[in-house]
Amino acid sequence: MTDIQTVGVIGAGQMGAGIAQVAAQAGYDVILSDVDLPRAQKGRDGIIRLLARGVEKGKIAQIDADEAIARITPVGEIAPLSGAQLVIEAATEREDVKRAIFANVGPLLAADAILATNTSSIPITRLAQAAPDAGRFVGVHFFNPVPVMVLVEVIRGLATTPETVAAVEGFAGRIGKTVVQAFDAPGFVVNRILLPMLNEAVFVLGEGVGSVVDIDMGCKLGLNHPMGPLTLLDFVGLDTALEILNVFLSTTGDPKYRPAPLLVKYVEAGWYGRKTGRGFYDYSGAEPVPTR
Ligand code: NAD
Repeated sequence: MTDIQTVGVIGAGQMGAGIAQVAAQAGYDVILSDVDLPRAQKGRDGIIRLLARGVEKGKIAQIDADEAIARITPVGEIAPLSGAQLVIEAATEREDVKRAIFANVGPLLAADAILATNTSSIPITRLAQAAPDAGRFVGVHFFNPVPVMVLVEVIRGLATTPETVAAVEGFAGRIGKTVVQAFDAPGFVVNRILLPMLNEAVFVLGEGVGSVVDIDMGCKLGLNHPMGPLTLLDFVGLDTALEILNVFLSTTGDPKYRPAPLLVKYVEAGWYGRKTGRGFYDYSGAEPVPTR
């Protein structure tokens, strides 16, 4: 089985940086790449800030934080990824972007290296066609924020070998995550169930059945969820949620995934949630303020 010592992470955004952090904290050497060096460094700077906060709160020792940071090498080109036994792609959720990455990075990798994708919605079997070996291609779906969320879904494409699955399960175990296995179907297990619920919350809001506060409070208290669906959508990003629903709709043809018109409107308005300062809540002040 592939002996993983160095992990390559492609895309140093919120997910890629989180994956790099947990891998480095577990003792792996990490190559963190993005389209250019400043973006890769920005991802590493975010990790440094998060670990410093962990040290302040007494959750992590200074020495452990320093060692984890020292294990992360930010890079703006793909050549250094050739030294990784496991490469996890966590770039923008666009199939053309991911295919181009696999086509470029694949040939650099060792014969037994594993290429994994953190895609939320694109079929693993289809993406595997852009990789050098579909047997060593697998989905590893992390949850946001990666250092906090314990779950990893491991998704087999049609050709993914049991050895590949075992190797990534071993990796996930060492970084302290719990694995659920999923077959390759749109949304896998968790998003398949979650996204229709989030979408329905926006239908409920758009139809005037409840206010932002009532919908969120209702689900928190009535379903015992830690946060309401509209708060969660603001964390996920309304643009990302819309993108995922559209992939579900186009890959299955099932109208139950039709995005709520109000979700489309908010995305058209640039109201993506926390990352743009406004979604179902306004984040310009000290506390989020509901917008409807
Ligand atoms: P993000 O926008 O925060 O980060 C994406 C990063 O990829 C950016 O830094 C961008 O510069 C980089 N990138 C784009 N093209 C690249 C290329 N060719 N080479 C290298 N880097 C490139 O997005 P994110 O939220 O971190 O999502 C990344 C992936 O993780 C997506 O596939 C998404 O569906 C998936 N995902 C997201 C969440 C979530 O809650 N946000 C949860 C699970 C999975």
